[in-house]
Amino acid sequence: MKYIFVTGGVVSSLGKGLAAASLGTLLERRGQRVSLQKLDPYLNVDPGTMNPLQHGEVYVLADGAETDLDLGHYERFTNAILTRANNVTSGQVYETVLSKERRGDYLGKTVQVIPHITDEIKARIRLFQETMNADILITEIGGTTGDIEGLPFLEAIRQFILQVGPENAILMHVTLVPFIKAAGELKTKPTQQSVAKLREIGLQPQVLLCRTERPLDQEVREKLSLFCNVPLDAVIEARDVEHSIYEYPLLLQQEGLDEKVCRLFGIQSPPAEMSAWRHLVKTIVYPTHHVKIAIISKYELQDAYKSIYESLTHAGGANDCGISIVVVDAEEIERYGPEKYLAHVSGILVPGGFGDRGTEGKITATRYARENSIPYLGLCLGMQIATIEFARNVCQLAGANSTEFDPSTPHPVICLLEEQKEVSEKGGSMRLGTWPTILKEGSAAQRIYGRYEIAERHRHRFEFNNTYRASLEKEGLTVSGTSLDGDLVEMIEIPNHPWFIAVQFHPEFQSKPNAPHPLFQAFVAACMVHDGVLKK
Ligand code: GLN
Repeated sequence: MKYIFVTGGVVSSLGKGLAAASLGTLLERRGQRVSLQKLDPYLNVDPGTMNPLQHGEVYVLADGAETDLDLGHYERFTNAILTRANNVTSGQVYETVLSKERRGDYLGKTVQVIPHITDEIKARIRLFQETMNADILITEIGGTTGDIEGLPFLEAIRQFILQVGPENAILMHVTLVPFIKAAGELKTKPTQQSVAKLREIGLQPQVLLCRTERPLDQEVREKLSLFCNVPLDAVIEARDVEHSIYEYPLLLQQEGLDEKVCRLFGIQSPPAEMSAWRHLVKTIVYPTHHVKIAIISKYELQDAYKSIYESLTHAGGANDCGISIVVVDAEEIERYGPEKYLAHVSGILVPGGFGDRGTEGKITATRYARENSIPYLGLCLGMQIATIEFARNVCQLAGANSTEFDPSTPHPVICLLEEQKEVSEKGGSMRLGTWPTILKEGSAAQRIYGRYEIAERHRHRFEFNNTYRASLEKEGLTVSGTSLDGDLVEMIEIPNHPWFIAVQFHPEFQSKPNAPHPLFQAFVAACMVHDGVLKK
């Protein structure tokens, strides 16, 4: 197996995850089986307990692992099958080492960062040799070189490379080459210093991926090569992409990154065949039509709904339609009403969420979509909101709510899952991962998916309360998807509305640019019908 380690220098948010994923795209098209892994230096066991405002979206894998959003890029850009082993945190590493210590596995020894923590990190990288069907593992290290908390990971990589041999491992350092206006030139010093930091701990990058707004001229490249001790042809320019993140693999191919990597590993393969990908990017970047979709949010940070944005982009590509996303703050709707924000949108999407802030605004937005025949897609919390709205305003169940937001509601139409009643720990304890759903014959859901059984990823504690199922169905709500035993409501729809579908799961975790998710595709098509640019 070959290993590519990806580190980041100078600043965070350089798009290391996208770089790793894009390299994965190219290597797969060179016939390599690729897997990707993220090592996160923070002490949380997983990001599941973190606020999306700080950390962005929590990405859920098929096996129920709650992971960093970069794993979303890995899945969207490659065919790698990811599991909880693909996202390692310091928290997990310390948890394992400390429980071994309590068990007595290290009896007599002093337990230390080197070698015990570093050994555990290496074991988690090596795990892939035995379990994954991959030729190349791309391992991204979160954070920036120079961070104290990242040091054990870098030390572990140094040891790892020594063990597998330098011919089997590449260190790719993603760095920033800023343009300083006053001087009118690109500056290499920050990169020199971040590479110096790596070399201090015995790591020498073989490839420098330089994020820059301007082209790197020959002089800058030579300087970077000389001072960072990297061959000139391994100084790779990574300009900001113009329109879409899906241009990134094309850009890196043009710069020869995958060619360089294959040469370093001695892999003989023809260039990656990217014409289908290029076509895909073209349909995403130059669509014929346009729709405007409102996401009723409470987190302003774009990254909090990353996979939803990407899924809409994929669905837009499939429909030859550009998507303008309007992020509407649910609390603004509470203050000023829905009209101002939603009167001119083609569709309304209510995403997942936790806690009661903004829920009344989301309920108002959902009512607006239902009453004004605007296409509506509810995801997870969005389905719970749609249920509450329908119960209150169609079934006249005053005060209907979820017990998450109002524990003493007279009509708990959404309540805690039975299996959650005994759960007190917050970490990794929701209903998580892939579960099957049976679709109702003749429902919109069944038409859209084109089958009767689907499997989607979940992350929730609350559920549709079956006590109210019959009364809601009597008033025109269709339960179109349930768990295999028929007990858990997984999908609802309103047949006498042009397009109103809400789901308890997260379809956004299974959409790829070259395999757009059917629900998002159908939603975007419905938005186009609503705007009159597509015939029904
Ligand atoms: N807070 C809700 C629940 O726990 C919805 C979760 C979500 O949207 N992911 O069931």
